[in-house]
Amino acid sequence: MQRTSTVAAFRAALDAERAEHRLVGLVPTMGALHAGHRSLVERAAAECDTVAVTVFVNPLQFDSAADLAAYPADIDADAAVAASAGASHLFAPGRAEMASAVMRTSVHLEGAAEGLEGAARPGHFDGVATIVAKLFAIAGPCRAYFGDKDHQQVAVVRQLVADLCFPVEVVACPTVRAADGLALSSRHARLSPAARAAATVLYKALQVGAAAAGPAEAEAAMAAAVAAEPMARLDYVASVPEGADGRRLYVAAWVGEVRLIDNLEVRTAR
Ligand code: AMP
Repeated sequence: MQRTSTVAAFRAALDAERAEHRLVGLVPTMGALHAGHRSLVERAAAECDTVAVTVFVNPLQFDSAADLAAYPADIDADAAVAASAGASHLFAPGRAEMASAVMRTSVHLEGAAEGLEGAARPGHFDGVATIVAKLFAIAGPCRAYFGDKDHQQVAVVRQLVADLCFPVEVVACPTVRAADGLALSSRHARLSPAARAAATVLYKALQVGAAAAGPAEAEAAMAAAVAAEPMARLDYVASVPEGADGRRLYVAAWVGEVRLIDNLEVRTAR
């Protein structure tokens, strides 16, 4: 696996792959790679000729300096995961390379960025989109793999690609969960054992929401489930229509000091 940290070197590496007519798979991450990230890399490796993982803890998408400072980082461990999952390239730029203090341009989205995380974390998706746009501009034509765990983020990236004509095909991948249902997240490294146990309340809330009679009942049942967990503090729940007869349930909650999100597709109309 080739490791690069400058824009020029990463761009040259992927240009060389395409010069050999290889389809590039791109997996953007913030590192602290877990089995969820691994599934994205493995899917990209199965569908593309070469896979590039990027690791960049994007300061523009954090709304709290403390959350940014506490974000886990271990680039050598990440390199081992990426390589074993089938990546051929690892791009891990420093902060000055990707989001220098002199950067005065940003991407602003409406539409897909409104509501849910967009409402709860003002500016978050603009920060995501600015750095994803930059990664796409550096990487060039590719297939880019994102996780459905961040379902609204996938919609934001699809809108970014459509509106700005990036030569990128966006692929959404299923959420990878722990045995007890908790959607894997890099932020779990910051949960105490008690908080980790309490964090299963997000998935439990989605399940009671899925079993509820209608959207209003689902939202009430999800909120009640989170309220019943003493270590959890609800940020929001939502039941949003999706497709002809489906809907998607969303939950965001604090467990101890850590904010977690999850979502679940419910296929049948209720
Ligand atoms: P992050 O490093 O948290 O920014 O995530 C990088 C990519 O991995 C994003 O596209 C996430 O949606 C995806 N991802 C994170 N957690 C999971 C998970 N548990 N299952 C599937 N994909 C995930």
